[in-house]
Parts: sequence; structure tokens; C-alpha cells
Amino acid sequence: MKALIYVRQSQDRSGEELGIARQLADARQLAKLRGWEVIRELPENDTSASGKRQRPQFEAVLAAIEAQEVGAVIAWDMTRLSRNRRDTVRLLEAGERAKITLAFVRGTDLDLSTPAGGLIADILAGVARNEIAVKSDRQRRAALQAAEQGRWVGGRRPFGYEADGCTIREAEAAALRDAYAAVLTGVSLGGVARDWNTRGLHTPQGKRDGSPSLWTSQTVRPTLLNPRYAGLRARGRGKSQQVMAAAEWQAIVPESTWRAAVAVIADPARANPPRGGRSLLTGLAFCGVCGEDTPATVHAGAAPSRKGREGYRTYRCRAAYGHVGRAAEPVDEFVTAVALERLSRPDARDLLIDRDRADVEQLRTEAIALRGRRKALLGLVEDGTYTDAEIRDRAGRLAEKIAAVEAKLADAGRVDILGPLIDADDIRAAWDALDVERQRAVIDTLMTVRLHPPGRGTRTFRPETVEIEWKH
Ligand SMILES: [Zn+2]
Repeated sequence: MKALIYVRQSQDRSGEELGIARQLADARQLAKLRGWEVIRELPENDTSASGKRQRPQFEAVLAAIEAQEVGAVIAWDMTRLSRNRRDTVRLLEAGERAKITLAFVRGTDLDLSTPAGGLIADILAGVARNEIAVKSDRQRRAALQAAEQGRWVGGRRPFGYEADGCTIREAEAAALRDAYAAVLTGVSLGGVARDWNTRGLHTPQGKRDGSPSLWTSQTVRPTLLNPRYAGLRARGRGKSQQVMAAAEWQAIVPESTWRAAVAVIADPARANPPRGGRSLLTGLAFCGVCGEDTPATVHAGAAPSRKGREGYRTYRCRAAYGHVGRAAEPVDEFVTAVALERLSRPDARDLLIDRDRADVEQLRTEAIALRGRRKALLGLVEDGTYTDAEIRDRAGRLAEKIAAVEAKLADAGRVDILGPLIDADDIRAAWDALDVERQRAVIDTLMTVRLHPPGRGTRTFRPETVEIEWKH
């Protein structure tokens, strides 16, 4: 009969380290006694006790069994062959299908080709499966309880905090506060990444080789979206993420600020920023030729240089090439002049967001109460007080209320982007000092712009072809 030998070096807790060489010698001896032909030896160097690292040689054993290449597998004992319950289940199921024999240097053979051997394998696999189920159920409950109590359960050090997950690391916390403020005034995530890198800050998780990793917009995004910075404990990831409770750690920004920033970051308009730098009105101004109901925005392009004339930036309708295509520079200048004139008027302060509009503390209390009710509701599912349909109905209404309160909180956290311009002594200088992302945020707050064709054969800029509608 063809056999293969599997041996594994591992951390030996008992201190009696059994070397691979010794295991191999004993296994070969066993094969010889039985008169089996050893077609392969698979030694595994595996020093992690319970880590989730893959064991390539163990996978090779399973593959050989599945392919019916062998009639027997020889190992030192069962614990060498199968490191955990999951391995045991896979091994016994594959072994039973292929009707092989498992032979151990220490321990009796398990002949899976006979009904008795199959029965023992079934029982062993059943016990292992049950232990997996009980363990994962216990883990799930423990994780839920930790979340409901707002506890941190360990893991990688979160940016902004020390390794205990609770103590604030001030340099990083300051960078986070600045980043939330920056995002709310229209700075891109790439801009935040550059700022953090300039400050000499790195991601908590370094590269694979252990060297520090620089920030990018891809790593800044999930960081700023993390509810932990508002002092909230959440469960799940992405769309299924749910804020469970107030966390045991201190917040770095108010919940309202965090929610406002999340609303900005999650805005689909930000998802696909045009390449090669934005123009002032890209994606902001609408085409004036498109239908009223579904006007397309304009995008920036470039007109090539011709004889005697330099190339220049253009705005074009995204939807149809023939709609609007015109030089961007005079449009930007005109729109800027109109915006700054509006902000220079005596009544400009009326444009500022009324910060007293929402009582943030009141909203926070409301949110906490609603989340508490959702938690209580989940308890009623478990003890069977309500039917599934009743629970779904109530949970749906609660979810709507929670969403409404969270939206109000986000609104209250909006930073005033017009304030710095209105307060400036020299408004033009203050405008020029802003980067284009912030300038765009100002325009977007103030007005809706529609671009019409510039008019045939005319070289002069005609203001009536740029339609401006105030948002206030
Ligand atoms: Zn159009």
C-alpha cells in the first residue's frame, strides 16, 4: 500500500521538543513494519501554536487523499497531524471518502475503509464540529457584549491612541482634529494624507518588512470614517457598520463634527475626482443647454494651441459634445468676482450658518436613548416576546429615527466655510490664499452656476451667458 508521512515541528508546550528528524525516523520505521511504500514525506516547519497561518504541507496531505494517491497517512500522533478542530473535521471527512488508514507512531490506527473505522471517524468529527460551533457562538456573544459595553477588545493600535486603545496620543490626535476641520472646508483626502506625512506621522500598521508606511487617501478614508474618533463603539464594517454605544475611550472630535465629515466623505461626488487637478467649476457648474430636469455638469478640458494662439482651459458639457464648450478662464474670473462681491456686502454675515440652530447636546442624548432602545429590542427577539414581523416593523421605525437624529448632528457640525472670507480685511488676498478645493467649497455653498454657449464669433465675454443662482 502506498503511504505518505506527515511530520510537523511545533512549539512544544511540555518542553519535550520532538524534532522533525526523530518523528521522520519513527514514521519510516512504522511504514517498514507494515510493509507500506512511502511515496512522499511532508515535513512542516510550523512554530506558531494556534495562529491562523496556512500549513501548505497539511494542505498537500488533503490533496493527496482527495486524489486517492495514497492508502495510508502516517504521523507521530493525532495532535501532530491535525492542529485544530477544523483540521480534524476536514481530514476525517476527506479520509472517509477515500477510505484510507490513518496510522500513528503513538496511538492506534484509524481504518476509515471499515464500517467501524468510519463510525469512529464520524463521532470524532462530530465532536470536533460541535466544539467549533460552541466556540464560535461563545465568541460571537462575547464580541456583542464587548460592543454593547463600549469596550475595546484589542488589536492593532488605533491611530490617535496608545497601544491600550484608550489613552490619547496627542500629536496624532491633533492631526486628526485638523483633518476633520480640513475635510469640512473642502480639502481632499489626498491633501490630508500629505499633511500627515509632512508632520512625520505614519500609519499604525507598517509595511510587511516592518518599515513605516506613508499615508495615502486610501488609508486616510477608513481612518476618518471610524466612529471611534467620536467616542463611539461600533460593530461590523462598511455599510453594515452600526454604532452600538458610547465607548470607554475618550473622543477626539465631537460626534457632530465626525458625522458632518462622514457625510462629506461619503458624498458620491467625491468618489471620482477628475484627474490632473480640478478646475474651479468642474462638476459644480451645470450645462445650460441640457434639459432642465437632468442637467449635466461641465468638465474641464484643454483647447490645443493653434497658429498664433496659445492653448487654453475649457469647460464642456459632460453629456453632449455640442452643448457647451468655452474658455474656462474668463468664466472662473467672472464667477469669482461675483462671489467675492456678494461676500463683501454688509449683509454677508447673514450667509453664515446659524450655529444655535440645533442643540447638539440634546441631539446626542436623543441618539444615545434611541440606540439603547434598539439594544433592548434585540433582547426581546431572543426571549420571544415579539414575532419576527413585529420586531422588523419596530426596528425599521427606530432605524429611521436614529438616522434622522444622526443627520441633524451632522448638520450641526458643519464648519463654516464662508467665515474666514467674510472676516478677512482683504477678501481677494484671502481668496487667493485658498487652495482650489476650498475655493470650490465656497462657490458650492453660495451659488448654482449654469454655463450657456459663449455666442458665435464673439471675442468679448458676455456675462449673461453665465447664469448664477444664489442658494440663500
Ligand atoms: Zn449639456
